[in-house]
Amino acid sequence: MDKIRQVTIVGGGTAGWMTAAALARFLEGTGTRIELVESDAIGTVGVGEATIPAIHDFNMKLDIDERELMRASNATFKLGIEFVDWRRKGHAYMHPFGPYGLDMNGVAFHHYWRRLREAGDANDIAAYSLATAAAKRGRFSHPTRDAASIYSSYSYAFHFDASLYAAFLRQYSERRGVVRTEGRIVDVSLDPESGNIDSVRLEHGRVIGGDLFVDCSGFRALLIGDALGTDYEDWSHWLPCDRAVAVPSKRVEEPEPYTRATALDAGWQWRIPLQHRTGNGHVYCSHYLSDDEAVSTALANVEGEAIGDPNLLRFTTGKRSKAWSRNCVSIGLSGGFLEPLESTSIWLIQAAIIELTRWFPARDFATADVDAFNATMDRRFREVRDFLIFHYYAVERDDTEFWRACRSMSIPDSLQHRLEVFRASGHVVFDASDLFIEGNWLAVLIGQGVEPAAWHLRTDLLDDDAVEQRLAYMRSMVDDAAAAMPSHKETLDRYCSVERQGA
Ligand SMILES: Cc1cc2nc3c(=O)[nH]c(=O)nc-3n(C[C@H](O)[C@H](O)[C@H](O)COP(=O)(O)OP(=O)(O)OC[C@H]3O[C@@H](n4cnc5c(N)ncnc54)[C@H](O)[C@@H]3O)c2cc1C
Repeated sequence: MDKIRQVTIVGGGTAGWMTAAALARFLEGTGTRIELVESDAIGTVGVGEATIPAIHDFNMKLDIDERELMRASNATFKLGIEFVDWRRKGHAYMHPFGPYGLDMNGVAFHHYWRRLREAGDANDIAAYSLATAAAKRGRFSHPTRDAASIYSSYSYAFHFDASLYAAFLRQYSERRGVVRTEGRIVDVSLDPESGNIDSVRLEHGRVIGGDLFVDCSGFRALLIGDALGTDYEDWSHWLPCDRAVAVPSKRVEEPEPYTRATALDAGWQWRIPLQHRTGNGHVYCSHYLSDDEAVSTALANVEGEAIGDPNLLRFTTGKRSKAWSRNCVSIGLSGGFLEPLESTSIWLIQAAIIELTRWFPARDFATADVDAFNATMDRRFREVRDFLIFHYYAVERDDTEFWRACRSMSIPDSLQHRLEVFRASGHVVFDASDLFIEGNWLAVLIGQGVEPAAWHLRTDLLDDDAVEQRLAYMRSMVDDAAAAMPSHKETLDRYCSVERQGA
């Protein structure tokens, strides 16, 4: 086999350093050289602070110590995302990292919940989620592995400082032999015969070659876009927000173990609590809101004093038609961007890295492998896209032009199908290999007010009293378990406090 001798990674943001770290680990002992080029003058996008539980798989593959990572990046724990004012103003629900209740007689829990609701029971489905109960009480302890314990019924992720996370991975990568080169790339040369990327040239003259190039150059997409001209599929007719303004602020209260996403007149605002500060940002649609209005709304909604100037970002929601083209794989923002409402971009980076290691090429770049990579990434992006569209589409809000446009858009067939099935029978359409499975879809479907017309016929195997008793027991288990957890702050102090480490 004609093996890859050099991998050249262009860009040192979250995508670049996650790729470098993972390849350093994956290619250890193979003799393949890894070089990463980044430009301090250009810098990184500087946002991307909320993750989802799948990040544990990445940490495990790289043998990253969670405590070290959390200390290095001022991280906090995250049990889910609270959506405020989405369904309608004054309404809030949580998308927790964990399922609701317990399945009985082989039937998913929510069918029993739906049946009791019909009989007049007013308990919200959130009352059956330990992740939600703990998050709302500001509590956190690590889940256990004992499947019989209620403490195994949730998962968690992190909020971290994106630039500190990249710095942590840089250290990890350099310790494993990745060579970092500072400089601005001013030219990309293609091989005239194959059309593959041959080399990149830096401002100060150095030329860097490679067999495999990974484009992590962010929205600039220097290789996959500018040099190779790979098409970009624009999805902004479904996800119309196209700008964001990010504003960090001083912390005014103990960090809560969840992200908050509050719907506004023409978009929404995030709040991400870190150990040392709070991340905030207003994601909006420029068709309905000017930049000046967006900045002042963002600043008005920030709790605590803003730190530094607002960072204005522009984007087009969508993805490359081919994430991998010729000898170039795009990972991160160069390959596509779906807005941060469900904190999925870092996961899409992780998914691309895992697929790249799975289909790692030889120098002939077998078409079947490249196609397999592209097909998987295409599916991943579409899945996340549908999940995000749902939040905008399934709203009762009609108080602004933006929301009226969202609720009247025509949605992809894949999402339409999912909605129709759930509305009719209460069944959640998902595949075991999906990122968003039953509990995730239930959270947003029910949270945004989609109620199934029917429930599973096997729920009739238990009479109303038995179902009521069991559900009441589950609610009290959740309540008691949440009340017995330490506070998020106590767990942070004990486990990974940056202040304590400093002392
Ligand atoms: C508003 C917003 C909020 C977000 N929130 C989240 C979130 O909560 N959770 C989440 O998972 N994701 C989030 N994301 C996405 C996340 O920020 C990105 O996926 C992640 O930061 C990866 O970015 P990147 O590394 O691809 O690009 P960048 O950070 O832009 O890095 C690009 C790199 O390329 C280098 N470069 C570019 N041009 C050149 C050149 N000519 N020569 C040399 N080097 C060059 C730059 O110096 C830099 O090192 C968010 C994104 C946005 C826009």
